[in-house]
Amino acid sequence: MTTIYSARWVIPVTAAPIENGAVAIEGTRIVAVGTLEEVATRYQTGHVQEFPQSVIIPGLINAHTHLELTAMRGYLENEESEFFAWLRKLTVARLERMTEDDIYVSAAWGACEAVRAGITSVGDASDSAAMSMKALKEVGLRGIVFQESFGPDPRLVPENLAKLKSKVAELRDAESNLIRAGVSPHAPYTVCSKQLELISDFAQSERLPLMMHAAESAAEDSFVREGCGIFVDGLARRDIEWIAPGVSTIQYLKERGILETKPLLAHCIRVDDEDIEELVKTSSKVAHCPKSNAKLGHGRAPLAKFLDRKVDVGLGSDSVASNNTCDILEEARFAALIARADRFVSAKEVLDAATLGGAACLGLKGSIGELKEGSQADLVVLSLTGCHQVPLYDPVVSAVFSSSGRDVAMTVIAGKEVYKDGRVVTIDEERLRGRMLEIAAKL
Ligand SMILES: [Zn+2]
Repeated sequence: MTTIYSARWVIPVTAAPIENGAVAIEGTRIVAVGTLEEVATRYQTGHVQEFPQSVIIPGLINAHTHLELTAMRGYLENEESEFFAWLRKLTVARLERMTEDDIYVSAAWGACEAVRAGITSVGDASDSAAMSMKALKEVGLRGIVFQESFGPDPRLVPENLAKLKSKVAELRDAESNLIRAGVSPHAPYTVCSKQLELISDFAQSERLPLMMHAAESAAEDSFVREGCGIFVDGLARRDIEWIAPGVSTIQYLKERGILETKPLLAHCIRVDDEDIEELVKTSSKVAHCPKSNAKLGHGRAPLAKFLDRKVDVGLGSDSVASNNTCDILEEARFAALIARADRFVSAKEVLDAATLGGAACLGLKGSIGELKEGSQADLVVLSLTGCHQVPLYDPVVSAVFSSSGRDVAMTVIAGKEVYKDGRVVTIDEERLRGRMLEIAAKL
């Protein structure tokens, strides 16, 4: 059975926009992309769904998020000017106040927000990865769930590694056609150097994708380069010694073997030209999180340089605790606007990052992130009828600069209509909403 989605415009991303376009799908795959006339002639018995005042784009990819933290939207506003206090309040709330079911509900609510915003794949880092994976599966998202590992104390490395391995084994058993397991040593200041090395070895021997926060804050920079600042003080209070390597974060991660895993690195704000060359050489990928970076006052990553040097760069919302929405179209607009302090990054370049770049970040280039015959049927119908979208001269410009995730009318993942007619069809959103209010009251 063939389904044909037609719209005023189709943006395949890897080809020019098609006016009066259509995308035909069979099962989980796209079988044709072209004008409605061409596609309907080829598939005469196909069931046609028409969206005359809309644009069809590839499913958007959120390359870096923590859906389990969705309950913390707006919860840390008073701490966000002080990164250490922000992290501490977040960690205490997650570990001491949220039950396993709270974490699951939080991730599922985040997954609903994602598909409502046209996100079809996520790179999700989670401390309770099994709960996140359950949530993503139920809602019907595609992606990688990265099991986080923490451990700044070198004395606890064997214990921490054993814990990681057992959690990953559990996660692997739960993998599906759409969702893979990965590992995430959290950050340079929360995982000691020995543990970084062993996780890198583990990821390579088990062929696990690896994601890590890198070169994000000024505090991290002082920690790695000079061995001073709030993170060092925090470790000293716990009687943990830290000898700073005295190099950049990227250089440090290279020395620890992390770059050999072709990692996905979130943030990469504090990187110089030499670091960027290292990213190119090692095929490391960047999850660019411009709104989170700006909201926490961490600064601005050099997106234009990444694009010019052809680093694979996707867009990430990070958690809503620092954003406060999971909306990749909004992220794309923001990314283009602030990058223009360096050069005129175009609407097309950030739409590419939100789709093709994200696909590269998740190791899925060629199967998602574009609309072409043979690729996975992940697509989004974006309505163009809003007051804020009329008139329209160029559909790419309209999608990036006038639209947001709130204009999404339908989200299709692997051929399945996950969001349509204003509701997520795979899960009971009203039950989740009630539970979210309970969790918020508790926090
Ligand atoms: Zn993050």
